[in-house]
Amino acid sequence: MSISQEALFKLALNLEDPWYITLIDFSAEGKQLDVHIDFESGRKFPCAKCGKPECSVHDTIERTWRHLNFFQFKTYIHCRVPRTECKDGGVKQVKVPWARKGSGFTLLMDSLIVLMAQHMTVTAIAEMIDEHDTRIWRVLEYYVGEARSNEDFSEVKSVGVDETSRAKGHKYVSVFIDLDKSKVVHVCEGKDASTIESFKSDLELHKGCSENINNFCCDMSPAFISGIENSFPNASITFDKFHVMKLMNEAIDKVRREEQSHNVLLKKTRYLWLKNPENLTIKQNETFGSLKNLRLKTLKAYSIKLALRDFWNQDQHSAEGYLKRWYFWATHSRLNPVIDCAKTIKKHWNGVTNYIKTKISNGILEGTNSLIQAAKDSARGFRINKEFYYYYLSEDRKARIQSTHMKQRGTKNVFVVQGCRLINLGQEGNIVEVLGKN
Ligand SMILES: [Zn+2]
Repeated sequence: MSISQEALFKLALNLEDPWYITLIDFSAEGKQLDVHIDFESGRKFPCAKCGKPECSVHDTIERTWRHLNFFQFKTYIHCRVPRTECKDGGVKQVKVPWARKGSGFTLLMDSLIVLMAQHMTVTAIAEMIDEHDTRIWRVLEYYVGEARSNEDFSEVKSVGVDETSRAKGHKYVSVFIDLDKSKVVHVCEGKDASTIESFKSDLELHKGCSENINNFCCDMSPAFISGIENSFPNASITFDKFHVMKLMNEAIDKVRREEQSHNVLLKKTRYLWLKNPENLTIKQNETFGSLKNLRLKTLKAYSIKLALRDFWNQDQHSAEGYLKRWYFWATHSRLNPVIDCAKTIKKHWNGVTNYIKTKISNGILEGTNSLIQAAKDSARGFRINKEFYYYYLSEDRKARIQSTHMKQRGTKNVFVVQGCRLINLGQEGNIVEVLGKN
């Protein structure tokens, strides 16, 4: 039994009546395959605007779509698309079964792009399929928007927000996470109070309710604090313990820098003081041993930090008193950076001690921050939008978060877990290797 070329392609494209293939034009020189589609004359179509069936064709318009390659040959579909006149006014193109409205790609090409975007950068896709990246972004925007429109945030109660710099320098992106589900719920530009409002409206667009939010975890940025107080009246704020410790580390670093200027022993010890004792390398341990009997200000600051670290493990009865004693010690340390840090904590006392009750932190966001970093790299030199971030984060979200923990120390390779496979995206976001079953 033989089958005609046209019939074969009709099958492959899943075309049904009244659509049929009129011509398949293959140019080996032009490395291109052109498939021409037409419709049976006299056929009527439903109106794309109001849905009225059986509308007569008013006129036709020539359109072209990029389809999946036929082996290495670019493939295009051409068709004179009928237009019908709507009783509500205007002449509209009818829907074609192989492409969505307004797209220059067929649905199958769309799917391929979305699939590829889960594994490689848009730049890499653009190169691979030889298209301008703007066209690929448009496809991603459409499908991400589609996926987002179905989100349901009605159960969201605890939210963590953190900002990450988007480009070297000044641009920031704020990421919001549902802390109960460890799931990204919103990403937007900026790190001011308006980002909190942006989250609120997005939450409400997706069946969420600002009054349901009873916990918010953030850093001590006044913009976040006032934004949360204004937009989420029922939320109690817990300051992220990692940010509190970061403040303390910055204080130590200031003390060390000052002391180092007249004590050469402290040269090259910066990272020692930022670590916890159990994480020191053998060499750092030796250095630490040689310094610990000296009366160093840096060492004093370090002890104060270790005491602050122990605060997070206090129980509800001891916590308040513990932090008060710590505060007394820190403010009497005669180390100005440490005193400043203690005063900042004092100013944010309730939100700091809240941790003992809520036990929430933004630790999970650290993982997503590196994802955003990866996303950022992949969008190098391109206007990024929130959908894009969301897209990156929402696909196999959990797997991706896990994957950042699998990041090999010392290399910047990004790994993604997908089903039973581990995909190594290398440093550039291109697939380097795929391990495991298909
Ligand atoms: Zn109509």
